[in-house]
Amino acid sequence: MAKVLIVEDEDILARNLAEKLRSEGFQVMTAGDGEAGLQKARDEHPELIVLDIMLPKLDGLSLCRIIRRDSSTAHIPIIMLTARGTEVDKIVGLESGADDYMVKPFGLGEFLARVRAVMRRSPGHPPLQDELISNDLRLSLTGRRLFKGGEERKLSNKEFDLLAELMRNRGVVLSRDLILTKVWGYDYYVDKRTVDVHIRWLREKIEDDPSDPKRIVTVRGMGYRFEG
Ligand code: CA
Repeated sequence: MAKVLIVEDEDILARNLAEKLRSEGFQVMTAGDGEAGLQKARDEHPELIVLDIMLPKLDGLSLCRIIRRDSSTAHIPIIMLTARGTEVDKIVGLESGADDYMVKPFGLGEFLARVRAVMRRSPGHPPLQDELISNDLRLSLTGRRLFKGGEERKLSNKEFDLLAELMRNRGVVLSRDLILTKVWGYDYYVDKRTVDVHIRWLREKIEDDPSDPKRIVTVRGMGYRFEG
């Protein structure tokens, strides 16, 4: 049974998240401030940490950095929770070391999907689920193959990673910066228009009518959203 540590000072939210995870078979521990969170991360060896940013005693970004520097906890995947849009830049930036983040308020179904996705990506965990499915699209994560209506569509590596990222975040707007960070990586300088070009190529492969995309939607001034 996978162990999850939730570090969140909002009692009701912490309880809701814990209940949702328990109902799905996870073992859950909670901490209401950053110091207690650090103690539990070290003592209990959770397999995932859900970490709020605004916390008493020790804030989430600092805690995240400490966890990453400590060899006994450095490998634990972290999902950051944030209430404010401006914090998102810090989480996504080079420093924090978080694996994913969610902006409050979010739905419990979305939360569960992110928890599963992050745990699936983390080393040492056998894949919980191998496929991302949306209508007639089926993306095999381990086989790295895409099928549309049962027919295989060939994707380049980057197209595959981009589509997987979009499908994992179904219904959520992903900015070009976030996509660059997640798909191309922190250290790689790529022009933001590269994202647009890859989106166009992907649309040609997955949209019924690429000139009128219904799956990968452009959100003007913000980025792209997968609708499935
Ligand atoms: Ca808080």
